[in-house]
Amino acid sequence: IDKVPEDVLGICRRLRENGKRGWIVGGCVRDLLRGAPAKDWDVATDARPEEVMRMFRKVIPTGLQHGTVTVLLRGVHYEVTTLRGEGAYSDGRRPDKVEFVDDISADLARRDFTVNAIALDPVDGHVIDPFGGARDLEARVVRAVGDPRERFGEDGLRILRAARFSATMEFSIDPDTERAMSEPRSHVTFRRVSAERVRDEWLKSMRARRPSVAFEAMRRTGILEITCPELLEGVGCAQNKWHAYDVWGHVMACLDASEPAPLLRVAALLHDIAKPRTRELSDKTGDYTFHDHEKLGAEMAMEILGRLRFSNEERDRIGALVRHHLLCYDEGWTDAAVRRWIRRVTPDLAPDLYALALADVRGKGRDATGEVASIERLRERATGLLAAGTALGTKDLAIRGNELMKELGIPPGPVVGEILGALVEVVTDDPAENERGRLLAAARRLYEERKQQT
Ligand code: ATP
Ligand code: MG
Repeated sequence: IDKVPEDVLGICRRLRENGKRGWIVGGCVRDLLRGAPAKDWDVATDARPEEVMRMFRKVIPTGLQHGTVTVLLRGVHYEVTTLRGEGAYSDGRRPDKVEFVDDISADLARRDFTVNAIALDPVDGHVIDPFGGARDLEARVVRAVGDPRERFGEDGLRILRAARFSATMEFSIDPDTERAMSEPRSHVTFRRVSAERVRDEWLKSMRARRPSVAFEAMRRTGILEITCPELLEGVGCAQNKWHAYDVWGHVMACLDASEPAPLLRVAALLHDIAKPRTRELSDKTGDYTFHDHEKLGAEMAMEILGRLRFSNEERDRIGALVRHHLLCYDEGWTDAAVRRWIRRVTPDLAPDLYALALADVRGKGRDATGEVASIERLRERATGLLAAGTALGTKDLAIRGNELMKELGIPPGPVVGEILGALVEVVTDDPAENERGRLLAAARRLYEERKQQT
C-alpha cells in the first residue's frame, strides 16, 4: 500500500471529502499484491461522472457514457470510473447498456478473472476481494469470476486475455476455466472479437518471458485455429535431423529464445510459416527451394499480418525478416557477396535479421554453436564492410547520372539508369572503383558494349 502513488491516494481522499469512496481496482491492485510494477492506476468510485468532474480541476470526459473520467495530475492520467453493474452482452463484445451501481462488489463481479477483481481502498488499506483473488495470486492461477462458461459467452476477448495473463504472469489456467475457454459456445463469441484487439493481445503476450505459454494456450483451447490456422500446420510436421522438435515446437522455442521486442517476436512466430507447405519439395531438391520457402513464407506472413490489422510498415518489415532469415549466415562468402547481401536486406533490417537468425538456431533444441558463430561472423563482417563504405545504391556512387550523360554523350533515357546500376555492381565487387575517373572509364566500357549489342 505504501507503493500507491501520492496522487492516487489524493484522488481517493478527495472523493472521501466529498462523501464518496475511491478504490484502486484491476491490473494495478493485482500487480501491487504480486509485487510487480503497476502500469496504470485505475480508480473506481461510487461518485457519478458529473460529480467526479466537479471534484477535480483538470479533467477529461474520456467516456462519460461508460462512466470514465480522466483526472490529470502533474501530467499523469488517472482513469476514475463510476461503479458499474453487469448488464447483458448480446453482441459478445460490449454490455448492451451501462448501469451504474453503488456496490463495489457488484462492480468486481463483472470483471474477467479473480486476480483482476480485487479492490483496495488506499486511504484505509481495506481490501475487497469477494472472489478469492488474493488466494489465486498466491496459488498463481488464472480463474474466471463466477461461472466461466457464462463469462466467456459474454465476451470472447477474455479467452485471449487468459492466455496472455498465463504467459505474462507465468500462472497456470484453472482447469474449469480452461475447459470453458475450449467450448464451442465460447468460440462463437471469440469469432466476434475484432482483429485489432487480437493483435494487441498477441503483442502484449510477446512481452512475456516465454510467449509460447500464451500461444500454447491458444492452441489447446482452439482459438488459434480461428485466428491463424496456418500456424497449426506445423503441429506434428517433422523436421530434418538438425532439429529436435516438429515445426510448431521449433517455432515455440524460437519465440522464447528471441529478444523480447514484440515485432521481432512476431517475426519469430511466423518465420517458418511456409515450412509445412514447402517441406516436401525441399526434401527432394535441397537448397533450391530455399527461395520458394522464403518467398512463400513472406507472402503468408504478410497475409496473416494484414488480417490482424498490423500497419503496412510492420507488415513490410516482418515480411522482409521472414523473406531473408534463411540466408543470414556467413558460409565463407566473399566480401562482395557480403556487400550484396547488405544491399539486398538493407542495413536498417540487418540487426533484427541477426537477432531472428540467432533465435531460430537457438530454437532447434540441439547444439547450434557452429550456426551461432556463422551468424556472428556475418554480423561482424557486414558491420565492418558497412563502416568502410559500402555502396548501397546509385546515390553512393562517386558520379551522377547527368555527369555520365555529359561526359559520354549519352542521350536521356533508360540507358543512364542501367549503366548506373551496373556501376553499383562494379563498386560492390571492388570499392576501390568508386572514384570519378575509374567510374567514367568503366561507364565508357559498359556503354560501348551496350552499343555493340544493339
Ligand atoms: P494490463 O493493463 O496489464 O493489460 P489489466 O488487467 O489492467 O492488465 P485492462 O485492460 O487495463 O487490463 O483492464 C483493467 C481491468 O478491467 C481488468 O483488470 C479487469 O478487471 C477489467 N477488464 C478488462 N477487460 C475486461 C474484459 N474483457 N472482461 C471483464 N473485465 C475486464
Ligand atoms: Mg491496465
